Amino acid sequence: MKNSKPNRPGPDYDVPEDLRFSYAQIAQAHGLHCEVKLDPAMFREELEKPGELLGLRLKLQFSVGTNNIYAEGVLKGSVRWNCTRCTKSFEEKFSQEFEELYPAGTDFIDIMTQVRQSLVLANGISHLCAPDCRGLCPLCGCDLNESQCACDRKPPRNPFGVLKDKFGTKKD
Ligand SMILES: [Zn+2]
Ligand SMILES: [Zn+2]
Repeated sequence: MKNSKPNRPGPDYDVPEDLRFSYAQIAQAHGLHCEVKLDPAMFREELEKPGELLGLRLKLQFSVGTNNIYAEGVLKGSVRWNCTRCTKSFEEKFSQEFEELYPAGTDFIDIMTQVRQSLVLANGISHLCAPDCRGLCPLCGCDLNESQCACDRKPPRNPFGVLKDKFGTKKD
């Protein structure tokens, strides 16, 4: 059960650099709502290569219950990546949410672990410069988004595509 008295934002509360919040302090302040910019250099390990973190921002909300503190976070960032189809470098944004309940008796609310886990999940973003990127020609290597080569490449037809065509036309 959440105690939803309006939380006073804690303007005097310094967000710890290692994102380990004192349970007692947050309980005393009746919760905390904050937004912090994080240094991308601290999170080199979490992103798959060649992803490069350009910016990272964290929104946090702590709600104090009778016997616990509930933490909700949104992690937003942008990554420079190489398109998996055409290899062009481009920027991609992501947003990951997390939530966790910390029981009374916890000394430190370790948000750093949450942030690192969320970043690992952010590796699952599309990694395409555009949803319809046409990629490179497998024969001559030209970028098919920019030019159309004369190579003869007929990919084998997808049998499921054929089935879909049949059903699509036989609708009545
Ligand atoms: Zn591409
Ligand atoms: Zn070609």
